[in-house]
Amino acid sequence: MSHLWSAATHGLVPYVPGEQPRQPGLVKLNTNESPYGPSPKALAAIAAATGDGLRLYPDPDSTALRAAIARHHRIDADQVFVGNGSDEVLAHAFQGLLKHELPLLFPDITYSFYPVYCGLYGIEYQLVPLDESLSVRIEDYRRPCGAIILANPNAPTGIALPLSEIEALVADHPDQPVVVDEAYVDFGAQSAVSLVSRHPNLLVVHTLSKSRALAGLRVGYAVGDAALIEALVRVKNSFNSYPLDRLAEAGAAASIADEDWFESTRARIVRSRDRLTAGLERLGFSVLPSSANFVLARHPHRDGAALQAALRAAGVLVRHFKAARIADYLRITVGTDEECGLLLERLETILAANG
Ligand SMILES: *Cc1c(COP(=O)(O)O)cnc(C)c1O
Repeated sequence: MSHLWSAATHGLVPYVPGEQPRQPGLVKLNTNESPYGPSPKALAAIAAATGDGLRLYPDPDSTALRAAIARHHRIDADQVFVGNGSDEVLAHAFQGLLKHELPLLFPDITYSFYPVYCGLYGIEYQLVPLDESLSVRIEDYRRPCGAIILANPNAPTGIALPLSEIEALVADHPDQPVVVDEAYVDFGAQSAVSLVSRHPNLLVVHTLSKSRALAGLRVGYAVGDAALIEALVRVKNSFNSYPLDRLAEAGAAASIADEDWFESTRARIVRSRDRLTAGLERLGFSVLPSSANFVLARHPHRDGAALQAALRAAGVLVRHFKAARIADYLRITVGTDEECGLLLERLETILAANG
């Protein structure tokens, strides 16, 4: 019945998320979720918010959550915007800040949702190739543009730029919005949140889905100058006044306040990443240096898609991207040591069987 669609819908090329299997028992290392549960304090806050109060609409401004985020980052609440997952925050940023006459710049290999938003909102963009080591080179962004978006650490490479380079990029473009998507920053990169008070053109986007183990709650946020935040609020209030429900707001605020849980789980994931990297290298893989909760790894003699399929048949889900320069690689989420051990065991069997 596609003749019933609007013309714009025919032209959309939607994002395809990693598989969420219905079949139980698979080892799930394909969508960068945390192997550890959310903060018990977050779960208690969600339970406490479950009751008769759900009759009422939530706070459209998510005041309590924005205050908790502002306290955590030592900034003002008017420098904070919250949304239904950072994907929604990013969508509003694309529409409200990144659409200009000159093209938006982002790397040729990065979060594959960015070109999807460009398609949705009719944003001109130019891809800037990563260098031979698959790193962002900020000098390559010194060209006329309307805005810039980078993921730092980048996805799916896991490679991070130091804060000094992010600051140089932001300073190079004082009249263009620069969005830094820090979905994975807590696993080993330096956050640019410390720069927002000095740079009114910088917007930093965070998610509670990865380092705070709340992918199922759908909460993300942006930090930036109050004028950038106001643009996002205008878009949000023209789209959905209540993107965060009462349970999400309560759980997210309690999660942000629970520093101990956050610190201990992210430290475990970083240690497991180092063991996983060493294990993959022992099997002959080359592994990009990751500052994230995943690694991008390539075997010199094996096809990435074939390895992914063999792993799936052996009960382990990992992600593979068909994009030109990374088609040989697997993106593997850091699970528990037990899950990573199982992955390595299955990979060893697969490599031995068709060696
Ligand atoms: C996971 C991810 C997001 C989206 O996170 P949600 O908050 O779950 O929507 C955004 N950017 C990057 C680079 C990601 O990997």
